[in-house]
Amino acid sequence: MNQYLNFIDGKWCEPSTGRYVPVINPATGEQMGEVAQSAKTDVSRAVEAAKQAQKQWRLVPAPERAGYLYKVAELLKQRKEQIARVLTSEMGKVISEARGEVQEAIDMAYYMAGEGRRQFGDTVPSELRNKFAMSVRVPVGVAGLITPWNFPIAIASWKSLPALVTGNAVIWKPATETPATACEFVKIYEEAGLPKGLVNLVNGSGSEVGEAMVEHPGIDLISFTGSNEVGRKINERAGGLLKRTSLEMGGKNAVIVLEDADLNLAVDGILWGAFGTSGQRCTATSRVIVHQDIKKELEDKLVKRTAALKSGNGLDETVAVGPVIHAAALRRIDEYVEIGRKEGAKLLAGGHVQSGGGLENGFYYAPTIFTDVTPQMAIAQEEIFGPVVSIIPVRSLEEAVEVNNSVEFGLSSGIFTKDVNRAFEAMRDLDTGIVYVNAGTTGAEIHLPFGGTKGTGNGHRDSGPAALDVYTEWKAVYVDFSGKLQRAQIDNN
Ligand code: NAP
Ligand code: MG
Repeated sequence: MNQYLNFIDGKWCEPSTGRYVPVINPATGEQMGEVAQSAKTDVSRAVEAAKQAQKQWRLVPAPERAGYLYKVAELLKQRKEQIARVLTSEMGKVISEARGEVQEAIDMAYYMAGEGRRQFGDTVPSELRNKFAMSVRVPVGVAGLITPWNFPIAIASWKSLPALVTGNAVIWKPATETPATACEFVKIYEEAGLPKGLVNLVNGSGSEVGEAMVEHPGIDLISFTGSNEVGRKINERAGGLLKRTSLEMGGKNAVIVLEDADLNLAVDGILWGAFGTSGQRCTATSRVIVHQDIKKELEDKLVKRTAALKSGNGLDETVAVGPVIHAAALRRIDEYVEIGRKEGAKLLAGGHVQSGGGLENGFYYAPTIFTDVTPQMAIAQEEIFGPVVSIIPVRSLEEAVEVNNSVEFGLSSGIFTKDVNRAFEAMRDLDTGIVYVNAGTTGAEIHLPFGGTKGTGNGHRDSGPAALDVYTEWKAVYVDFSGKLQRAQIDNN
């Protein structure tokens, strides 16, 4: 039996509670191991270790810190296939996507290693003679990372790598569903030779370990990715404690298809966005906003292509759609489909749990398409987080943009059109943190900011240079070499 332990102060260790819960492979329903259920005292131990380690780490020159990140990148590269297989086994996404996710962590490690020689500040002229003025980034201290199961290594890499290269220590609580991938990632940090105590892994539930991290005065910032419900709770509590908090939450992403679009390309983008990772991506395509003149043609193509998608265990290279994460998710998705039916939406494909043909022990939902959906229906407003997409007809670009922006989230959007003027209009008016032109709603690259507007976040971004803002404080430094007291705003006026 695999046991997924904690990693605190450079050692793999049991949780203080001695408790574990099973980890289930969603493709087969089989138990693949058990994960530690830690408590507050484990968090406190991790904080002590992290604080000690960070005291030294902050003094290590950033290019030298980056040296460790290059090693992490190399090790991830060597182990890409093995980690991808672990990832598919515990969270279900198909193996090609799992490889892509590990690649994202590799890319992020190289990119953030490069930040070891950047982390630019400003030097500006002083308003006074013989005085020098500049700004520098300094680490915040101990970073608490709380991550979801749907991208078990990519999201952890988006957070831990910038935290480390800027001089912070890390305490990471992965989702209960995906500790195996988390352990693989931490083993790589261990092998890269990072000083002990710098990266700590504390497994356990959100209500126990997650809340203890938010509360702990020794954790200086929380970077969270997950549901709105939990993010809001964290924000309220951390706000009261004046703790820096970066939140990346849900989405209700749409693809707009205008009447001049390349429909086959649009179908490729929609299927990949809606049914990739079985719709369990924060950037999943959950709505298709289509010009009414081409609605029928688009529907026919989508239905035909959806029927050809093979469901099954993601380790099988011929499978297109893997399972969803667990039985509770399967039920929630089915409830939304029922709601859609009751709201009067028309089912074009799927709409049921899949079983038989080897699928009976896993958690499989048939790729599902609704049409004649109106913008205010629950299935058009709420995040379903499963392989369900809703087609909403409109008459113009203006209406499409309005429908896109009518949800509480603002993560990602895509538009298919050959008209450059309308593409630029959409780029300007779509209220999302990410916009794709002639592509679906997924496919972010690691050197641009990732995150969203409105209910998706709280103004911070993962990934890209913007990530550095989460893990650093600005320090303004003035050096007066005049040998006398010079009063700004007074002695020069
Ligand atoms: P979740 O239930 O919010 O869990 C996310 C993490 O928070 C888990 O590690 C969870 O621990 C922990 N947690 C739960 N309750 C907590 C609490 N009271 N205090 C502190 N931490 C707590 O989300 P999920 O079901 O894992 O993931 C799906 C959601 O993530 C979707 O809404 C999706 O849109 C969103 N997501 C967003 C992005 C983005 O970047 N915008 C990316 C991926 C996913 P346990 O579950 O182990 O108890
Ligand atoms: Mg959860």
